[in-house]
Amino acid sequence: MIFESLSDKIQGTLNKLKGKGKLTEKDINNAMREIKLSLLEADVNFKVVKDFIKTVKERSLGSEVMESLTPGQQVVKIVNEEMIKLLGESESKIDFSDDITVIMMCGLQGAGKTTTSGKLALKFKKQNKRPLIAACDIYRPAAIKQLEVVGKGIDVPVFKIEGENDAVKIANEAFKEAKKKGNDVLILDTAGRLHIDEALMEELQQIKSSLNPREILLVLDSMTGQDAVKIAEAFNSTMEISGVILTKVDGDARGGAALSLRAVTSKPIKFVTTGEKMSDLEPFYPDRMASRILG
Ligand code: GDP
Repeated sequence: MIFESLSDKIQGTLNKLKGKGKLTEKDINNAMREIKLSLLEADVNFKVVKDFIKTVKERSLGSEVMESLTPGQQVVKIVNEEMIKLLGESESKIDFSDDITVIMMCGLQGAGKTTTSGKLALKFKKQNKRPLIAACDIYRPAAIKQLEVVGKGIDVPVFKIEGENDAVKIANEAFKEAKKKGNDVLILDTAGRLHIDEALMEELQQIKSSLNPREILLVLDSMTGQDAVKIAEAFNSTMEISGVILTKVDGDARGGAALSLRAVTSKPIKFVTTGEKMSDLEPFYPDRMASRILG
């Protein structure tokens, strides 16, 4: 599970503090150094770590800790509060429109776009919505097949145009289809590449300007490590994403992406996916994520 190693290390550090009576400045400095290393090892962005440690240290050296009867506990409380802030403070939801809510999924190949499109569609179905998923990946026929299998499994229609090589056209036709059939949510499963490239971004931008999606969600593999921030920045600067879905948090991810994204892109993590089943999608709760780390 995500954060396993980070959690062990940070808890080890904080337990040492809790075991002491009074805390000296040196105790705090040592603990901060250890936490800093643990965060860096977990692939948290360097600048994010630096700012985080600075804030926690300043607060820990203040009267809130130094004059407290349980200084160790107070430091734990501060770390917890600052971690929740880092993760984004409050849980974010999908912003539905009155008409057809268009949700555009983007991200690199293999991040989990297709499966996550299905997971979202299933979630919406359970909320009595009528989703339609559009297969806009024109480069990989296998991706369309995969989406159809996903759609069948959750009993959600999938729109495709066999042989069409214009993704913008597919997206537009899908919108017309949604209007005709009375679907109130349209999920666009777009193409991904192994690396960010201009042609991909250009195509995504065209779909964006053509359909003006309510949500542009970046699907990001939590195992991505340090690159996560670069990927998020690239998609955010060209697409102005509305949020992130962090996938595969059931895997052995170090968790750096989860802790860096908000600070670097100022965009919320809206959902996490926790497995390969269609029901493995959860809203993102910063406080729960923080307690996964701090126990
Ligand atoms: P795409 O290329 O972005 O459309 O990615 P896919 O949706 O095809 O997903 C790539 C692989 O990751 C598939 O084998 C998925 O089953 C797997 N996957 C996606 N989300 C999760 C998750 O939350 N947990 C696990 N364990 N596997 C996932």
